Amino acid sequence: MRNDIEKVLKTKEEIQDMVKLLGEQISKDYIGKIPVLICILKGGIVFLSDLMKNITIHVELDFMSLSSYGDSTKSSGVVRIKKDIDVDISNRDVIIVEDIVDSGLTLKYLDEYFMQHNPASVKICTLLDKPKAHKIDIKIDYTGFEVGNEFVVGYGLDYAQKYRNLPYIGILKKEIYS
Ligand code: 5GP
Repeated sequence: MRNDIEKVLKTKEEIQDMVKLLGEQISKDYIGKIPVLICILKGGIVFLSDLMKNITIHVELDFMSLSSYGDSTKSSGVVRIKKDIDVDISNRDVIIVEDIVDSGLTLKYLDEYFMQHNPASVKICTLLDKPKAHKIDIKIDYTGFEVGNEFVVGYGLDYAQKYRNLPYIGILKKEIYS
């Protein structure tokens, strides 16, 4: 697997340090509340797993699965729910846990979708953000790292369902997907 990686962007240690900071910030911001962390599968699962262990207040979990890039590396802009949440989020504080924000279209869709269920609040927590790739104006509440427009893998992020188990985030060699 390592041979397919052009460059390591964020090491395991850098990620762990950042996830700790995000967990501390969320713990402070939600004192006295029990937020529902909604993990966007499959990419968000590794981040969620580490993030929740760094949150020191009570939280609940739920999962949502959406149509994704498939085996390509370009956003289709089309979002379809494959698995919906089970928890009733009316009057609840929701935190969407995402692996990466690219065009922002997925989060725009999710924000509008959750708002229909009358939550107390909806905030977004993403490990990675590609600010130059945003196609819409989107407010992200918690961001781990900003990255360029390169296609990245590892720490939950895949290419054709592979590389999710890399403990770091890296840029894939172009010959792997071209
Ligand atoms: P958006 O709707 O913001 O364009 O896309 C968000 C989703 O696209 C992410 O949750 C992720 O599944 C996928 N994605 C966007 N950029 C990358 C990338 O660099 N690497 C990988 N593996 N997935 C990405």
